[in-house]
Amino acid sequence: MYRAERLNQFPWLQHGFGTRLSAGWPDAGGLATAQQIHSDQVLVATQPGHLGPGDAIISKQPGVTVAVRTADCLPILIVDPRTRAVAAVHAGWRGVVAEIAPKAVEAMRLEFGSRPEDLEIAIGPGIGPCCFEVGPEVATQFRAFFPERNDLYFRVKLDLAETVIRQLGRNGVTRGQIDTSDLCPCCKPELFESYRRDREKAGRMVAAAGIQGAV
Ligand SMILES: [Zn+2]
Repeated sequence: MYRAERLNQFPWLQHGFGTRLSAGWPDAGGLATAQQIHSDQVLVATQPGHLGPGDAIISKQPGVTVAVRTADCLPILIVDPRTRAVAAVHAGWRGVVAEIAPKAVEAMRLEFGSRPEDLEIAIGPGIGPCCFEVGPEVATQFRAFFPERNDLYFRVKLDLAETVIRQLGRNGVTRGQIDTSDLCPCCKPELFESYRRDREKAGRMVAAAGIQGAV
């Protein structure tokens, strides 16, 4: 289990990023999950259960643990200590291009009154610029986020976490509010599942956050 230092400071919060070694975590009891489809769809969980298609789940219901499953895609946990709201985001490259993370922040603002400057965010283990190599058909979709790069018409390596940090920056969240794990699943087979490495044999890891309490 990988835990973000930044989120450990809140005693009312439980959170974690699963690894290959955390089978059975988290307890399925309070989980709110989605059918992940690499979209920009944000879902609101008021009780545990399966919410249908979407790639970010937000909640401020104590006892509900919002959860996403990943194997290379970035798992992102967002916590608002002021309103005690949480979000779990599944962001592969398609979700990143669709700006799923800033859309989750915006949904928290609309639903719970969360302010971007209050948020504490952890980007968990996801494919790093070491391994995320793509062709121009994908790379060119990142032009808006990397205006300084003129190599996106070729085969290049991209940094998804940096892309998310830049997107959130445009939406009022500063770099100082975001932790990154710098752990690439593709590079660390002993710890993490990786779709890019293992293809169909890859398992999935759960990232989850919830406010302690009863539903
Ligand atoms: Zn790597």
